[in-house]
Amino acid sequence: MSISNGGVATLEAPLIPERRDKLQPTSVTGHRRILLAAPRGYCAGVDRAVIAVEKALERNGAPVYVRKQIVHNIHVVRELESKGVIFVDEVAEVPEGSNIVFSAHGVSPMVVQEAEDRSLNAIDATCPLVTKVHREAVRFSGQDYHILLIGHEGHEEVEGTMGHAPEHTTLVNDPDEADRIEVPDTDNLIWLSQTTLSVDETMETVRRLRGRFPHLQDPPSDDICYATQNRQVAIKKIAPECDLVIVVGSPNSSNSVRLVEVALEYGAKASYRVDYASEIKQEWLEGVETIGVTSGASVPEILVDQTLADLADAGFTEVEEVRTAEEDLQFSLPKELRKDAEGNVDRTTLGGRNRS
Ligand code: SF4
Repeated sequence: MSISNGGVATLEAPLIPERRDKLQPTSVTGHRRILLAAPRGYCAGVDRAVIAVEKALERNGAPVYVRKQIVHNIHVVRELESKGVIFVDEVAEVPEGSNIVFSAHGVSPMVVQEAEDRSLNAIDATCPLVTKVHREAVRFSGQDYHILLIGHEGHEEVEGTMGHAPEHTTLVNDPDEADRIEVPDTDNLIWLSQTTLSVDETMETVRRLRGRFPHLQDPPSDDICYATQNRQVAIKKIAPECDLVIVVGSPNSSNSVRLVEVALEYGAKASYRVDYASEIKQEWLEGVETIGVTSGASVPEILVDQTLADLADAGFTEVEEVRTAEEDLQFSLPKELRKDAEGNVDRTTLGGRNRS
């Protein structure tokens, strides 16, 4: 199968790569076990975005264009490409009049305008929790606040949020940058954040900002979303007991990368991120008795199942799930997909698929 896309990769590969050599049992004599974090994997926003693309394909046929990766997971992207989705970096690459889906990370108003200018049929799969941050940015900039947006430069979500209030926003990447940034107005200041950051690091950034700008106001509610927070809480619970934590997730998945950092910070002796189980290295398992396993919010459970199957080959057959929260948030479909051509309303709610 030949797969090509705008800005992700060009591949000749099966969807889940086979491990060439099975993992082997190690010489450790102690009790081997896996602590499986829960919640893990798909969040409601990812579920909604992926189903939005599948429904767009079902209704309109291929190709359906998607601006950027619909969610930051290479397996999901490959699967959708195999069904006829074409991923592009920019709206300008899409033929006029085509169907386009905006990713779960959201877009700036400029991108929406570009799509209109090209007469594209746009479906907005922005996660409602990202849209909430967009609305806050519009509201506070309209009230003449200057916004300190805590987030990572170049991340699509940050670009989309800044695009809603470009004249009123300063980006703060991390606690050290909080010590350096300059603002136009120290009295009317409010902070907002990307949804997928480390909770602890964000609070440290806010602490340092407030040290410099005592009038800094808090957002009305958490911007770091429930899924990011819940996955971090679960990994904090198991990390102290783990010789190794494996996080399944892609390198551009902010919340997955944060899980590796949080695992190390909370006591895991080692932690690695993998896209696929086949990337687990035999040497990581040397001397290891307890392995923690989790996955980012854009990771289908099948990739975790494959990880557990591979680790079983190495003698890790005992799996104990450690659950720290229940998740039942559900979203409805993007408004553009709620009615079909005959006017029938699709009341599907999303958030439960592949839930751990
Ligand atoms: S990680 Fe959070 S903000 Fe991002 S899609 Fe999932 S629920 Fe929405």
